[in-house]
Amino acid sequence: MEKPNIILLGAPGSGKGTRAVVLSEVLGVPQIATGDLFRKNLKLMTEIGKVAKGYIDRGELVPDEVTAAMLRQRLEEPDAQNGFILDGFPRSVNQAKILDGLLAQKGAKINSVIYIKVDDEEIVKRLSGRMICSKCQAPYHKIDNKPKREGVCDKCGGELVVRDDDNPDTIRKRLKVFHETTFPLVELYPKSGILSEIKSEKSANGLKFDMAELSRRLGFIK
Ligand code: ADP
Ligand code: ZN
Repeated sequence: MEKPNIILLGAPGSGKGTRAVVLSEVLGVPQIATGDLFRKNLKLMTEIGKVAKGYIDRGELVPDEVTAAMLRQRLEEPDAQNGFILDGFPRSVNQAKILDGLLAQKGAKINSVIYIKVDDEEIVKRLSGRMICSKCQAPYHKIDNKPKREGVCDKCGGELVVRDDDNPDTIRKRLKVFHETTFPLVELYPKSGILSEIKSEKSANGLKFDMAELSRRLGFIK
């Protein structure tokens, strides 16, 4: 069976991160989220964090050189050698090219792109209830994905917080960037025959069931 080298595409608030976490459990490969990597760098006040801060606060994309260097390092880690789920990269046609180049150096390539489709109205609703764990970055939602204990992460006991960039102005800007810069990727990948589209609705079966079924359909598990 092929190693799962997967891209998850979707607007901010599409449920991309939540699905990436579950897919990562199902497939036993890491979720690599550039937004999470940036937030770690911000917390540790690294050089990357300092450069990225202004862009993130404004809801703009961090320059490609910075993002690609950070991603390249992450892809070198041992746990990423048997596959990965990219969450939040690429976000533009140029980043898709950069990614192809990075993987080609390792003799690898993307074999699946999963696009999570959801309307803008729904997105704004979702983002307004979103929280993340301040320690492990696990995503939660006040209504749709509540933690077992209010304000506390189920996985690590960390405190749940609202992200600084989940304010109305930045959300609006991020949606604009998604439509103008990221969405063209959804039109780019069908030509390669590796794009699957999924809906971002809650299903009766649950997320784990859905992600396992999708993984089987894509041929990554039996
Ligand atoms: P969301 O998908 O909810 O907008 P992310 O956590 O993926 O949030 O990203 C947060 C911010 O981090 C983005 O608004 C952007 O500033 C920066 N960022 C994340 N991924 C990338 C990327 N691939 N290229 C440039 N900037 C990025
Ligand atoms: Zn946590």
